[in-house]
Amino acid sequence: MSIDARRAEYLRTIGIDLWVPRPGPVPGGAARCAGELPQAPQPAGARPPGPAGDAEAWQRLRAEVLGCTRCALHQSRTQAVLGVGPARCDWMVIGEAPGAEEDRRGEPFVGRAGKLLDAMLRAIGLSREANVYIANILKSRPPGNRDPRPEEVQACLPYLHRQIELVQPRLLLAVGRIAAQNLLGTDEPLGRLRGRVHRFGERNVPLVVTYHPAYLLRSPADKRKAWEDLKFAREALARSLTGS
Ligand code: SF4
Repeated sequence: MSIDARRAEYLRTIGIDLWVPRPGPVPGGAARCAGELPQAPQPAGARPPGPAGDAEAWQRLRAEVLGCTRCALHQSRTQAVLGVGPARCDWMVIGEAPGAEEDRRGEPFVGRAGKLLDAMLRAIGLSREANVYIANILKSRPPGNRDPRPEEVQACLPYLHRQIELVQPRLLLAVGRIAAQNLLGTDEPLGRLRGRVHRFGERNVPLVVTYHPAYLLRSPADKRKAWEDLKFAREALARSLTGS
C-alpha cells in the first residue's frame, strides 16, 4: 500500500475522509495538499539514542517512578506508568494521567482512546514504536479518573521535566484541557489554547494543544479540528527545524 493510501486509511479511522487542497502556493515551495509537508528522512522525527549515560539515567528514572510515594496516589495505583517511545525523538505527546487500562497494563494511552491516538499519529507518519514519545503529567492513576489535584501535579511534574531532558523533543503536543492547562499554568479554555505555538520549560520547547482522544470518542464531530491541530503541530515543528 502506498504512503498516501495508508494515510488515507488512517484518516478514515479518525473520521476524516476528505483530502482538502490548500489554495495557492506555500511560501518556500510548490503548492501542496493540506496534509503534505516537506518530506523528512523516514521515520520522521526519529533520532539516534542519546549518549551512553542516558540509558542509565532512564533506568534510574524508571526505578524512581515505579517506587514513587511522593503523593497519595501511590496508595491506590496498580503500578506507576512512566511513558513509552524512543529514548530520543522530535515529538512528545503529553496527556493528563493513566486511566484504568493504563494502570493495569503499565503503558500510557492504551485502550480505545490509545488506539485513536495511534491512528491520529500515524496519519502524520508517527508511531510510538519509531518516532514519538508518549507520557502523562501524572504517573499514577487518580481514583475514578478524577482530575489531578494541584499538589499531585506539583509532586509529579519533576519526572516529566526529566523525561523532556532525556527525550529532547523539538515539539510537545499537549492532549486535552487538563494537560494543556497544567503545562502552561493557565485556566484558559482549550478552545483558546489551540492554534497557537506556546513554549514550555527552560528549553522553551514549542508546545501545541489539541483535544484528548477520549474526548474525541465522545465528540467525533471535533475530530476534524484535531486533524487541523496535528497539521498545525507538524508545520510548527517544520518551522522550528528550519528556523523560519
Ligand atoms: S503520581 Fe507521580 S508523584 Fe504521585 S505517587 Fe505517582 S509517580 Fe509519585
